[in-house]
Amino acid sequence: MTTSENLFARAQELIPGGVNSPVRAFRAVGGAPIFMQSAEGAWLTDVDGNKYVDFINSWGPMILGHAPAVVLDAVREALPHSLSYGAPTRREVELAELLIEMVPSVEKVRLVNSGTEATMSAIRVARGYTGRDKILKFEGCYHGHGDSFLIAAGSGALTLGAPDSPGVTEGVAKDTLTVPYNDIPAVKAAIAANPEQIATIIIEPVVGNMGLVVPAPGFLAELRALCTEHGIVLLFDEVMTGFRLAPGGAQQLFGVTPDLTTLGKIIGGGLPVGAYGGRADIMNQVAPAGKVYQAGTLSGNPLATAAGLAQLRYLHEHPEVYEQLEATTARLADGTRQIAQELGLNYTVNRVGSMFSLFFTAEPVNNLEDAKKADLPAFGRYFHAMLSRGIYLAPSQFEALFISTSITDELVEKYLGACRESLAEAHGLSL
Ligand SMILES: *Cc1c(COP(=O)(O)O)cnc(C)c1O
Repeated sequence: MTTSENLFARAQELIPGGVNSPVRAFRAVGGAPIFMQSAEGAWLTDVDGNKYVDFINSWGPMILGHAPAVVLDAVREALPHSLSYGAPTRREVELAELLIEMVPSVEKVRLVNSGTEATMSAIRVARGYTGRDKILKFEGCYHGHGDSFLIAAGSGALTLGAPDSPGVTEGVAKDTLTVPYNDIPAVKAAIAANPEQIATIIIEPVVGNMGLVVPAPGFLAELRALCTEHGIVLLFDEVMTGFRLAPGGAQQLFGVTPDLTTLGKIIGGGLPVGAYGGRADIMNQVAPAGKVYQAGTLSGNPLATAAGLAQLRYLHEHPEVYEQLEATTARLADGTRQIAQELGLNYTVNRVGSMFSLFFTAEPVNNLEDAKKADLPAFGRYFHAMLSRGIYLAPSQFEALFISTSITDELVEKYLGACRESLAEAHGLSL
């Protein structure tokens, strides 16, 4: 038995499913999860001493690779000054200044401890601001585990959602409308069927959570126009895309300005930080400035703000990072597409900036229904074939890969070599 297998056996006795976040359990690909010991740059080392090139990077936060000196030094400097005060600190002000400077739509911002907290709080503010109850989300977009977001689509655009998880009440579900991604007519129909009842449209401006799905040309701008016309708060959930697709996130890349934005992942440099922010008149609804209540004992934590501030400052001062990430990820994604083609698999590869997905289907993937056409057993075989070659991918077809600045040309070649062998192996093809 490996140390990983041993730890997982113990964990399953103690922790539901043996993990503290479901996707880590490898259920979508089979087999047992790998327990990690340490990481540096592009490389993860597991508890048995095996090494892997990391293409998840903690689901996005480690954009500079693991243990970057600039972030570690900042945390080391903060460490001796105690770990929490429950009182305001200088770095919270500096982080807020930097966020407002970097993210185009953000005029005021509140720090929280996770992406989930950010989205839950942001929809409360949108409801408080508009005096409306309903929210509209897109099928397959993930906004954390708040009750309002765990709602499956009804049978048509106009039907009410149903709870996607036991423990979410019908009452919550009836206030969440869901429509397919990239479908403006469905959005218009939902608005028409719920006049002056929709507080906010929440969206991943580029989707990472059904695999990487790209907004159709004009889609985000049309949403902006519809929200303005109908007094709906447009909420970009940039927990994944913020500081990744551009210094100012997807809103900067696509030139569409939301009313509210949620942030997480990269903002904490690997420590737990989230944030929500946007138009000053909306954010002034938040207590103690306004009546919408939201609070947090550890919000603005000194270590977390040290890590986040150091990573964001680095990104802010080194915009060339985004050109490097773009070039590296283009080589990975284009190479993957070409290898699949050479093997007679016309699989779809979607990419924006340093995020991409290989979908195990030859059809274009523009929404959840498209993504579900993927050959999941083949993906599972591919995942394990890559893992055995030292390539650590997201253990699900419905996730994106996140590239860090630590991926060198040499590692791109290593990945592409493993990709060719693994795709062949997963489909029983000989090279
Ligand atoms: C990860 C993610 C969240 C949830 O963030 P947590 O920190 O895991 O709570 C919300 N929205 C999007 C788009 C995400 O990718």
